Order: sequence, then structure tokens, then C-alpha cells
Amino acid sequence: MESAYKILVIEDETSISKFIKINLEREGFKVLPAYNGEDGLIMFRENCPDAVILDLMLPGIDGFEVCSKIRELDSDVIIIILTAKGQDMDKIMGLELGADDYMVKPFNPQELTARIRAHFRRYSQDDGTSKTGFSINELQHKIYKNNENLKLSPIEYDLLILLIKHPNKTYSRHELLDSVWGVSYIGDLKTVDVHICRIRDKIEEDSANPRYIETVWGYGYRWQGNES
Ligand code: CA
Repeated sequence: MESAYKILVIEDETSISKFIKINLEREGFKVLPAYNGEDGLIMFRENCPDAVILDLMLPGIDGFEVCSKIRELDSDVIIIILTAKGQDMDKIMGLELGADDYMVKPFNPQELTARIRAHFRRYSQDDGTSKTGFSINELQHKIYKNNENLKLSPIEYDLLILLIKHPNKTYSRHELLDSVWGVSYIGDLKTVDVHICRIRDKIEEDSANPRYIETVWGYGYRWQGNES
């Protein structure tokens, strides 16, 4: 499972970057190296990695700025800061940057991979739905399909998780609207269809012939729990 995880390494010192790459690849991770903040941000947008290892002292825009820009784009991705001793430690300790963890250079590569694994473990807590190719991490509000993080809006997440958790239960549009948007929400039932459509684009191989979210004509929707 973990072999599919992509890790973006933003580090300008090529020897350190190589050192990290070798160690992470040995553990089965896919590593994307970037050597400055600008390239790192471009690669982040293009590759949507699962974790970022980020050096603070970078040419051009520094790691602090890169970190906050990444957080604006993705509130969930794992960010591990690399820092030289004495570097603005207060800020780093408080992880005000939005980072999940930090390591002080020089560091032990085994410790780095162990920490990455620990963060990924939080991700992949399996609640038994993985047999259908979907897994859920409620703590992080993430749903994965075949190990890939689905980019869902909060509403899409709530809607999809309700369906996944109740396989083969048919929900009317009204019930979905009440459960997800809340009973006080006054809206068109078509709102549900629009969101289902968007979710299908994200999870179905062929959204014109959906196999996961089934339409129950004239009524609502149902999660197909029995496909193998
Ligand atoms: Ca550096």
C-alpha cells in the first residue's frame, strides 16, 4: 500500500536531497525532488504528493512561505520541516507554519522514514471498507480510492461518507439534504444531484455508467456495497 505514496522533497542542497531520496526510495516511497521553493510549489500543484519534506533555508522564497502556500492549497497534506539547529526554533516548535512535524539537521534517515510512516499510519486507518477500494480516515476527513486521496469539498465528503457507511441503503434526495446540509437548509433537491454528479466525476471510472453510486429512479441514491 505504502509504495504508492508520493513525497515531494524541497531541499536546495543536492547532497541532502539525494540522501533523503535514497533512503525514502529504499522504503518504497516515490520521491520527487525540487531544489527551490518556486519549483517545489509548481511540482506540488502538478503532482499532488501525499507528503512534503521541506527545507526552511531555500534560495528565493523560503520554506516558511512555501509551507503557508502549500497549506492554502491543501489543508491536509503532511508537511515535515527540515531545519538547521537554531533556526527560528520558537516558530518551528509551535509549528505555526502549519507543518505537522520537524526534524533538525543533521538527522538520522531512519528517524525521518519512521516519522513519515507514523504520519501515514494515521492516514490509512482502515475501517473495513478497503475491500471495495475505498478507505476512510475520519480524523483527517479524507477518503481514498485505491490509495489515492480523493479531493472532496466538505459537502462532498459528508455526502460520500454517509453513502459509503450505509451500503445498499437507499436514501431519498430529501434524506440526503437533511443529513448533509441540515434540516434547516432550504434548498432545491437538485442540489443533491449536482453534488452526486461531482462526486461521480471523482470516483467513477465512467461517470455515465456509475458502479459505486447507483441512482434509484424517482427517489434517490444508493451505495453499491457488493461489487467485488
Ligand atoms: Ca537549504
